[in-house]
Amino acid sequence: MGSTETQSEHEPARNYVNGGWRTPAEEGLDIINPATGAHLSTVPFTSREEVDEVVATARDAFEDWSRRPVEERIQPLFRFKQLLEERQDEIARTLVQDHGKTLKEARGELRRGIENVEVACGIPTTMQAGHLPNAAPAIDETAVRKPLGVFAAITPFNFPGMIPLWFLPYAVATGNSFVLKPSEQDPLTAQRLFELIDEAGFPDGVINLINGGVDTVNALIEHDDVAGISFVGSTPVAELIYEKAAANGKRVQAQGGAKNHIIVTESADLEFAAEKTVSSACACAGERCLANDVVLVEESVYGEFADLVVTIAEDQTVGNGLDEDTDIGALISREHEQRVRNYIQTGIEEGATLLRDGRDVTVAGHEGGNFLGPTVFGDVTEDMVISREEIFGPVLGLSPVADLDSAIERLNNSKFGNAASLFTTSGVDANAFKHEAEAGNLGVNVGTVGPMAFFHFGGRKASFFGDLHAQGEDMIHFYTDKTIYIERWPDA
Ligand code: NAD
Repeated sequence: MGSTETQSEHEPARNYVNGGWRTPAEEGLDIINPATGAHLSTVPFTSREEVDEVVATARDAFEDWSRRPVEERIQPLFRFKQLLEERQDEIARTLVQDHGKTLKEARGELRRGIENVEVACGIPTTMQAGHLPNAAPAIDETAVRKPLGVFAAITPFNFPGMIPLWFLPYAVATGNSFVLKPSEQDPLTAQRLFELIDEAGFPDGVINLINGGVDTVNALIEHDDVAGISFVGSTPVAELIYEKAAANGKRVQAQGGAKNHIIVTESADLEFAAEKTVSSACACAGERCLANDVVLVEESVYGEFADLVVTIAEDQTVGNGLDEDTDIGALISREHEQRVRNYIQTGIEEGATLLRDGRDVTVAGHEGGNFLGPTVFGDVTEDMVISREEIFGPVLGLSPVADLDSAIERLNNSKFGNAASLFTTSGVDANAFKHEAEAGNLGVNVGTVGPMAFFHFGGRKASFFGDLHAQGEDMIHFYTDKTIYIERWPDA
């Protein structure tokens, strides 16, 4: 498919409530294709009254759904998984136009989403708690997990196909009902996902979709009948949501922003490490919470490694994500592109060495797109803004470090703790890193550390507020509460 593929206007985004499609009441935003600047659609916003209505619907649906046998609850999930497999490519194309990333990235994202549906289908086994006969004289004790009611997820723009699926399948498999509020920046992917939800045959009201911005979110987190909130987004908003939802008596898990580090030791395979570094920092145009963009390199190999990184960065093709040859797609919006450009300017003013400048990129025929090429800084010091703040663009900074200890100390000084990676051939170094690095996802010779769906996913420090993370077993704990049955049946 060439980058000149034409883009047809999409229907305005709608809500999916009680098994039907509805247009929200309030004026919202225009949706612009990030690669072309063309108008794609609009997204109206959901009012507080409409939020009341959807929560009431979900609450009603919960009464029946939570009583259905677990085996019955997972049947529509199997159908949903099958539909996702069949329509993957079609959804990936919408995702590319909605978000700006490449087709390969969109397909990969959907694959990770589907894995979560698969894991949730195992709920009849994984939701079991425990049973002990004769726990006390003539007494049997049984622990059970019970669903809690209506859960909501508020999700960010950068993985519109995957992140809703970190939550949705587990919430409903455990017997809850669910409301998704996707990012208002790229809401069209959720429209496609919910077409499949509609076909999969969930009972009306069990899974709902509402579009909106800050006011819609506030209406959800203040609602008495919402039992819990999952949030993924930037750190300031994550902190706010965590506080507000907790103050309103809700369960809450809030994943925030990041600033991730890669350490390269002198024993590492430098070519491999450089390739993984560029891919980690620049894939999805750097708009990933797992992007490792602070690169700490042992002094003895710093020069050689920097040259390799620049060479690989030069090789990246920037363009429309629908073009199969594109390595780096568009940034989500013109405003965000400008924000990243401002960080590059800050880096220059702070005295970092600009080894490769990605600002002059042009994509023929796509003058309206939000493009930036990979930008590489050298000699980045710890105090620099570009070393401390999340940039969320294809920009990476290299720093020479004396040794592994000083590199680990520097990454631990970061206020964030989402991910970190080490490239080495030394098991001793790997062990030191695994024990001492303070981040929720640690990679050894892995550039982007995203765990499979059967493991939890979440960061530490300012990258996460709460205790139970997304995906896997943590989701079962988040979406259920435990009750103990203590039973004695004396002979008459
Ligand atoms: P964002 O915080 O701007 O928005 C996320 C969601 O919150 C959206 O649905 C939005 O409508 C809503 N929102 C925004 N401001 C709000 C407010 N004041 N009150 C209530 N709701 C509000 O984040 P974004 O720009 O969409 O996403 C990028 C951020 O998400 C980055 O910081 C990235 O690191 C982070 N992220 C983190 C993870 C993780 O697992 N830790 C995963 C993906 C993205």
